[in-house]
Amino acid sequence: MAENVFENALIQLGKVADLIKLDKTYLEILSKPERAVYVNFPVKMDNGKIRMFQGFRMQYNSARGPYKGGIRFHQEVSDYEVKALSFWMAMKCAVVNIPLGGGKGGVIVDPKKLSKKELENLSRSYVRAIFDCIGPNKDIPAPDVNTTPEIMAWMSDEFKRLKVKSKKVKATSKKLKIADNEWLPTFTGKPIKKGGSQGRTEATALGGYFVLCEAIKKSKIKNQKSKITVAVQGVGNVGYNIAKILASDERFCVVAVSDSRSGVYNKDGIDLEKVMQQKEKTGSVSGLTDTKKITNSELLELDVDVLVPAAIENQITNDNANRIKANIILEMANGPTTPDADKILYKKKKVVIPDILANAGGVTVSYFEWLQNMDSKYWSLEEVNTKLAKTMKKSFADVWKEASKYKVDLRMGADALAVERIIKKIKK
Ligand code: NAD
Repeated sequence: MAENVFENALIQLGKVADLIKLDKTYLEILSKPERAVYVNFPVKMDNGKIRMFQGFRMQYNSARGPYKGGIRFHQEVSDYEVKALSFWMAMKCAVVNIPLGGGKGGVIVDPKKLSKKELENLSRSYVRAIFDCIGPNKDIPAPDVNTTPEIMAWMSDEFKRLKVKSKKVKATSKKLKIADNEWLPTFTGKPIKKGGSQGRTEATALGGYFVLCEAIKKSKIKNQKSKITVAVQGVGNVGYNIAKILASDERFCVVAVSDSRSGVYNKDGIDLEKVMQQKEKTGSVSGLTDTKKITNSELLELDVDVLVPAAIENQITNDNANRIKANIILEMANGPTTPDADKILYKKKKVVIPDILANAGGVTVSYFEWLQNMDSKYWSLEEVNTKLAKTMKKSFADVWKEASKYKVDLRMGADALAVERIIKKIKK
C-alpha cells in the first residue's frame, strides 16, 4: 500500500485533539493500540504440505467495552493497516454510541488462490492462534474484506471446540457442555442458522443509505427535480447492497459500478440483477451488456451527485481530489480519502460523510447479533432494521450537531464526538 494508513489515522487524531484541546496524556493513550497480537500459524494445504501464514489481531481500545472489529483476508494486509482499522473501529463504535471498543484482525493471504478446504483450514488455524485473546466479553471479531458469513461459522465452530476442550482440561470431564453465551456471541456476522442476526449482511449498506438520506435533507440537492445520480466503486458485499438499495428507491439512479478489474457506466442506470448474474458468471462486472467500460479512476471522477467509495483505502487522494465532481461522498469503505484530499474536498464545499459514520451500520447490527446471542432471544428483520434506522439517524444528528458546534466538516465532527465519548469512559 502506497500510504501508511495508520499515519493518516494519527494525522486525523492530531487534528481532532487540537480542535477539542485534548490533554496530551489522552492523546498518547489514543495513539497506540492497547495490545498488538502477531501470529504465525500452520495451514494444511490440499497437496498434504504445511504452509505458514502470518496474521494479526489489534486490540486498540476497550474503554467503552470489549474490542470489536472484523477480520480481513488479503495479500496486502499489513500490521499498520490492521492497526488503523482497529482505531477506526473504536471511533465507529463511539459514534453510534454502542458499548464496544475497537479491534481488527487480518491475515496475509490471497484467498482466491486457496481451495475451499484450504480456506476453512486457514480460518480455523487463525482462530487457534488468537483463541486466548478473543471471547464474548473480550474481543468480538466479524467479517471484513474477503471474509464471509460461512467463514464466521467455521471460526465460531472452532472457537466452541477450543472452549469445550479448555473446559474439559480444567474439569477433567468428558461430557462437558458449555452455555451458548460462553461461545456463540464471540463471532458476529454468522449465517442466520448458526446464530446470526436477521439483516446483518445488508446492515452496513442499509446504515449508509439511512445516513445518506439524512445528508440529502441538509444538502443543496434536496430539491433537485431529476434523479440523484450515484456511482459506486467496488460492488462487493457493501457496495453491491448499497447500489441495490439505492436502485430500488425511485429518487436515485445508479449510473456506474466497478470492481477491482473494471468499471461499467450507463447514464440511464445499471441493472443490479444483471450485475449479480455477470459477477456470478465471470467474477467481474466487466463486459456487462448495455454499459460502457470505464476505469476505476474514471468512475471516481464522474459527474454524478453522489460518489460511494466502497472498495479499499486511499482512493481519493491529492492526485484526483480536485477532479471529484460529486457533491456528496458517502464513505462506505474504511479510509478511502487521504487527509490531503479531505482538505481539497472541504475547500470545494463537498459533503464527505465519513467512514466511521457512513459504514457503522455493520457494527451496529453486529452489536444486535451479540445481544441476541447473549440473551438467546432473536429479533425479526423488521425489528433489526427499525433499531438500525433509529441508531443511524440519531448518530447522523449527533455528528451534525458536533460539526456545527465546532464549525468543522462532518469527519472532524464525527472524530470529535468519538474521542470525547471514549475519553469520558477513560476518565471514569
Ligand atoms: P468485499 O471484499 O465484499 O468487496 C470489495 C469490493 O471492492 C469488490 O467488489 C472488489 O472487487 C472491489 N475492489 C477491491 N480492490 C479494488 C480496487 N483497487 N479498485 C476498485 N475496486 C476494488 O468487501 P466488503 O465487505 O464489501 O468491504 C468493502 C469496504 O467496506 C472495506 O473498506 C471494508 O473495510 C468496509 N466495510 C465493510 C463492512 C462489512 O460489513 N462488510 C463494514 C464496514 C466497513
